[in-house]
Amino acid sequence: MFKIGFIGTGVMGTAMIKNLITANYEVSVFNRTKSHAEEAINYGAHWMDSPAKVSAVSDIIITMVGFPKDVEEVYLGEDGIIAQLKPNQIILDMSTSSPSLSKQISDAAHEMGGLALDAPVTGGDIGARKGTLTIMVGGDKEAYDKTKDILHKLGSSVVYFGKSGNGQHVKLINQIMIAGTMTGLTESYLYANAAGIDPESVFKTIGQGAAQNWSMDNYIPRILNNDYTPGFFAKHFLKDLRLALDESDKLGLDLRATEQAKRLYEIMVDVKNLGNLGTQGLFKIY
Ligand code: NAP
Repeated sequence: MFKIGFIGTGVMGTAMIKNLITANYEVSVFNRTKSHAEEAINYGAHWMDSPAKVSAVSDIIITMVGFPKDVEEVYLGEDGIIAQLKPNQIILDMSTSSPSLSKQISDAAHEMGGLALDAPVTGGDIGARKGTLTIMVGGDKEAYDKTKDILHKLGSSVVYFGKSGNGQHVKLINQIMIAGTMTGLTESYLYANAAGIDPESVFKTIGQGAAQNWSMDNYIPRILNNDYTPGFFAKHFLKDLRLALDESDKLGLDLRATEQAKRLYEIMVDVKNLGNLGTQGLFKIY
């Protein structure tokens, strides 16, 4: 059985590590803030002092960190994974990051004789806990064939999309769709309140019709409970919208609705300083 290294014990990582340990994998972990790894260590993960040390004891290294700069640091930084990579070792970045950074890391892994995948996810904190994530994979097919059993412990839908960076591209396509569902649910909620119609009943009803979507099903109950904990950090969603718009620029596209969603999340994160709330807190800027 493969020995797994896992870097990033946040909202998503901790739940994913638990699922891997439940499936009897041996898991070694590193996280920027050691105290935030306590839950994973309590599940049975072994603590290592750096990404390089995780790499040294693992056949496969999974990363689930926050921003592209974090991905760059854990792979390419001093004491990073790549410097220690051994032939045939597999790296698997599951953070939402940039397709071009995935390609750069993949090239660096190949130089060391390793294999690389980008495998971002959708399905939220709930999907991570239940092991029902949707996982979109790009990179070395050989690595995909070797790791798909592991990925199926984390997700119920795992799809290979070809070359390095394609997993990230599909995730950004997903986020363009979510830009619509998050702004839609926010403004529907404001309208229901202003019209004085019980929002719980409204969303139960429209959730049976053409407006049904994952964001509404999962975030309206949290809003109704006054629960703005992340779930999915607003600061991470803004990062994703910026990545999607950067990539669409390169493709010669002008995605005006996504641009508008980005502006709204910029107000939430950069102006109102609410980036550590969940994405469902968007209506607080209205
Ligand atoms: P999170 O709770 O902030 O977790 C990120 C973890 O990575 C934190 O524990 C952080 O350490 C650690 N980290 C960051 N930089 C690091 C570094 N240089 N070295 C070691 N550890 C580092 O975020 P999350 O919600 O789990 O999301 C993780 C990724 O998944 C993001 O890219 C996000 O966009 C994506 N994603 C999230 C969701 C969701 O619903 N939450 C869904 C799909 C995709 P600290 O403890 O020091 O902060």
